[in-house]
Amino acid sequence: MNPTRTELENIGEFGLIDRIRQKTNYQNASTLKGIGDDAAVIETGGEEKLLLSTDMLIEKIHFDLTYVPLKHLGYKAIAVNISDIAAMNGIPQQVTVSLGLSNRFALEAVEELYAGIRAACAQYKVDLVGGDTVSSPTGLVISVSVVGFAKMEQIVYRNSAKMGDIICVTGDLGAAYLGLQILERERQEFLGNPNMKSQLEGKDYLIRRQLKPEARMDIIHELRELGIVPTSMIDISDGLASEIRHLATQSGLGAKIYEEKIPIHRLSYEVATQDFAIQPTTCALNGGEDYELLFTINPNDFEKLKNHDDISFVGYMQEAEKGVILQTRGGNEVPIQAQGWVHFGK
Ligand code: ADP
Ligand code: MG
Repeated sequence: MNPTRTELENIGEFGLIDRIRQKTNYQNASTLKGIGDDAAVIETGGEEKLLLSTDMLIEKIHFDLTYVPLKHLGYKAIAVNISDIAAMNGIPQQVTVSLGLSNRFALEAVEELYAGIRAACAQYKVDLVGGDTVSSPTGLVISVSVVGFAKMEQIVYRNSAKMGDIICVTGDLGAAYLGLQILERERQEFLGNPNMKSQLEGKDYLIRRQLKPEARMDIIHELRELGIVPTSMIDISDGLASEIRHLATQSGLGAKIYEEKIPIHRLSYEVATQDFAIQPTTCALNGGEDYELLFTINPNDFEKLKNHDDISFVGYMQEAEKGVILQTRGGNEVPIQAQGWVHFGK
């Protein structure tokens, strides 16, 4: 019998990854960046370095096929991977797609999935170059890997924010989480009463944010045109709280975020407060899957960005001792806790 058994739920996803990272040695000088960022960085010998990232989606954990159309799922599986290349300030070029399929799925279902995958490949100008197909006992598993490229001086890491840098967020936050709550509510009520009246009307924006997220490659291209290289960057897959903590702790700094500056869509406000009685700010901080970008800029670059209508300036980097803090609308200062998604919880 093994005398020590550490439950994964006690160390959490990030704790587990950290254990793996600590025991990993790199043997090749071409491994420029290994575990710990949105993508690995690999030497090519040329001016552009290779960026590599992978993500896996599992039925019943990451998606529920009772309300997720397969085509949307295919699109999302690609988009969330592209988002990790965007978070490195790189340009994606190739993807591979691996599938675990049970006999529940017919050819037509797989074709639907690939229609979404191909639509996303067209949208982001990436080529599907391979994958793997295996059987799975019950559900559907999709794993996507993506390759991108960027010059060394363009690559942006999580750990390079500087004191006083301005914290920026693209788009709006919390909508994807609310979209999920709406779809979940619909599913529950449908189970109780199949003749129910649908409550999806007018909620299109939130549902789209959940079912068909986009990677912010548009912003990456705009930053290039403006000649701005962020000082640090990460994509927001687990909510602002968890991601700002990654940027701050990995950069050896603290951060201050102003609640009133956090971008939240009008419909998110409405649905959070009226339908679910939750704070819109909580959705933005701890909801997930918005796939917006969180980045920091040198204050000297602020002039060039300040009128951008899809970038919000939510705070600044501060001394590590001051912590990662939210200044609420009421003027209170509260520490931002990393909740993210608790993968191993009960
Ligand atoms: P993201 O949310 O951007 O996909 P993750 O939090 O999943 O990033 O991963 C953080 C880092 O840990 C990445 O560098 C990722 O490649 C690495 N990582 C995650 N899981 C594992 C694993 N099982 N083995 C090795 N590295 C991992
Ligand atoms: Mg990421």
